[in-house]
Amino acid sequence: MNTNRSQVLFEKSRKFVPGGVHSNFRVPIYFEKGCGSKLWDIDGNEYIDCIVSNGACILGHGDEDVDAAVISAVKQGLSAGLESELSMKASRLLQHMVPSAEQVRFANSGSEAVMKALMIARAYTAREKIIKIEGGYHGWFDEAQVSVHPEPAIAGSDENPTPVLSTKGIRRNSLDSVLVVPFNNLDAIERSLVENKDQVAAVLIEPVMFNSGCIIPQYGYLEGVRRLAREYDILLIFDEVITGFRLAPGGAQERFGVTPDMSVFAKAIANGYPLAAVVGRKDIMEVSRPGGQVIYGGTYDGQHVAVAAACICLEKLKDGSVQKRLEGITQRLTEQFTNMAKERGISAQLLECGGQFQIYFTDRDITDYRTALSSDSAKYKIFHRTLLDEGLWFYGGYLFHHGVSSAHSEEDVRKIIDAFGKGLDAIKNKN
Ligand code: PMP
Repeated sequence: MNTNRSQVLFEKSRKFVPGGVHSNFRVPIYFEKGCGSKLWDIDGNEYIDCIVSNGACILGHGDEDVDAAVISAVKQGLSAGLESELSMKASRLLQHMVPSAEQVRFANSGSEAVMKALMIARAYTAREKIIKIEGGYHGWFDEAQVSVHPEPAIAGSDENPTPVLSTKGIRRNSLDSVLVVPFNNLDAIERSLVENKDQVAAVLIEPVMFNSGCIIPQYGYLEGVRRLAREYDILLIFDEVITGFRLAPGGAQERFGVTPDMSVFAKAIANGYPLAAVVGRKDIMEVSRPGGQVIYGGTYDGQHVAVAAACICLEKLKDGSVQKRLEGITQRLTEQFTNMAKERGISAQLLECGGQFQIYFTDRDITDYRTALSSDSAKYKIFHRTLLDEGLWFYGGYLFHHGVSSAHSEEDVRKIIDAFGKGLDAIKNKN
């Protein structure tokens, strides 16, 4: 694969952009355009996109209806600072679709929306501490950057992890206000609640933990967290930034039948246009109203172009047919991948949910961050390299997640399966 022109741009930009990229999760390949299920870089390489803007482009790149709504909103000349019929319509749609959404407020990014949800939860409960899951990512801010992907050697035991700062530059006292527990472990949550009696505001959880690949909640886990939150009188917050609108029109909460007190959405809400939302119970959300206990404000909250995109995008996701198709695709990928790995005698598994998936090179059951670490990163590297050469846009991190969009065709799916076969061959030939 020739990426010479990307390399030239990278060399230029790293002189005035730290590391040459504007988000640390990017690689220095420079894109020219995206259309449907495909991406093209500036060297003319064509890729089938299996990252779909980190989960955002659920309808594919450049969905015609979303683009038409955006163009019409742009022509209205509005940027920010006022509500409009579209902001009302988008919030009404969310309120209809999402079980926990008695009330809705917009923000711009997932990080920001989680921050705002935590502020509201603390104000509502008059408590400080948050329970978060080890291996979970909720953004770049202080409390979210605790125990994202910690080195197990410094992170305590599997059952009782020690909170670890995941970046410099955040306040050390974030460690005092964040309690860290493993995914799929109700005892650990209960222990935390008992040890921190009357100090915990909320438990924050990504209902399917895509931020360590694709970790599925075990039967009864989310129901158990819901029960504990009620029993100990704390709030349950679902971070549906990735699960939102993918697992069902009402997100993971609809799919698993567990209604949190608050939830956060972003990414697929507007097919990649920058919009996020905090939703929740009316009595909780009301603390953020003008004149309420919590300041909730931002120049771009509910930005006109983004809400225009959301109105169309949510309309298209409302009846569940897109979600069914995506799930059908990833189920086929699972079936085919499992067979191909077996035929080649390679220990590997593809886990999927809601059109998102990740491949782990291990036989172990993946139930939490620590078990996800058992995936063989060297094998993943070989696999990833082959997929890129085969024209799949795939991520190099073995704990990342992938996905498909409604623009992915049958032919795309066949090509993905073919490339998976070649990736597995490359691993086999290396051994
Ligand atoms: N929560 C989850 C579950 C996420 O996956 C992400 C981003 N990948 C965020 C929050 C942060 O969202 P953003 O990048 O829009 O700030």
